[in-house]
Amino acid sequence: MKRSDERDIMFSRMARKPNTKEYDQYYSLHPELLEIDDTLRAQMPIGKPGDRFYDSLKTSTVDAAFQFLDSIKPLVEGPTASKILTTGTAEDFTAHIKSIAELYGASVTGVAKSDESFYYSHRGRTDQVYGDSVSIDNWPHTIVFAVPMNEAMIRKAPKAEESIAVTQGYVQAAIVGMILTYTIKAFGYEARNHMDGNYLCTLPLAAKAAGIGDIGQHGLIITEAHGPRVRLGAVSTNLPLVNDPPFSKSIAPICETCRRCVRNCPSKAIPNDILATITQEKCFEKWLEYGTDCGICLSVCPGFDEGK
Ligand code: SF4
Ligand code: SF4
Repeated sequence: MKRSDERDIMFSRMARKPNTKEYDQYYSLHPELLEIDDTLRAQMPIGKPGDRFYDSLKTSTVDAAFQFLDSIKPLVEGPTASKILTTGTAEDFTAHIKSIAELYGASVTGVAKSDESFYYSHRGRTDQVYGDSVSIDNWPHTIVFAVPMNEAMIRKAPKAEESIAVTQGYVQAAIVGMILTYTIKAFGYEARNHMDGNYLCTLPLAAKAAGIGDIGQHGLIITEAHGPRVRLGAVSTNLPLVNDPPFSKSIAPICETCRRCVRNCPSKAIPNDILATITQEKCFEKWLEYGTDCGICLSVCPGFDEGK
């Protein structure tokens, strides 16, 4: 499977600034994206007065959550690892890590054998890290967890209540990842949290490999307990752990007959073809128009409950 490159995701592209070497390099390799990206960049940020679902009270809370996430983003590697190595079996460490993740708000936690297929090949979210290659050599395991989001608020999509619930999920997932990272460092091992704005991996792929859920037609992870209404987080580590098997159930037969996300997506970004992926530019354009992250696909998806 070809590794995805963080430089190609929408948020990385929106972070490129004209008259910089990163901008020139990216669009010399992708001239076909220059016009659409310049058009979308000119409409940034998401959630400003005049946007269709802008709400000064609620949008401020969303902005505050992102500001907080921005403040803690530099902490993803935690402190220096303790010099005293905590001893234990892989079973002991796995049980402890999962119980701590759940204590801090995860509803399900799994461990995947790290695989390049779910790590970016290169970074791209900021100019400082643009083009850095991603290696998994020091991280044999990837811990992945899902935190549930407030379902009633998600059902208000595409209004700003949905964005508050989504950002609350980002904050909660970041905190779970931080606590796991700091705990593992205290054990004397290496760890790296993957949180909003500072990921090295594609979380839905890692989550499927860790047994958390399957990926739906909308490209989001679908869990058994909460459908797609979860936020994912992950921690890479060399702590001895027991890997979980990949998620074994398939959402594809349900997606084939459901198509609710396809029918309800206001930008027609979700393809009808089961093998195709969403058109991120169309989705992002709708976010800019709405002033929220839309979330209709999150709201309408029945997940594994369909037909029960
Ligand atoms: S809304 Fe339906 S088609 Fe779309 S991902 Fe969910 S189950 Fe699949
Ligand atoms: S967030 Fe909205 S626009 Fe984007 S894919 Fe989902 S339903 Fe479509």
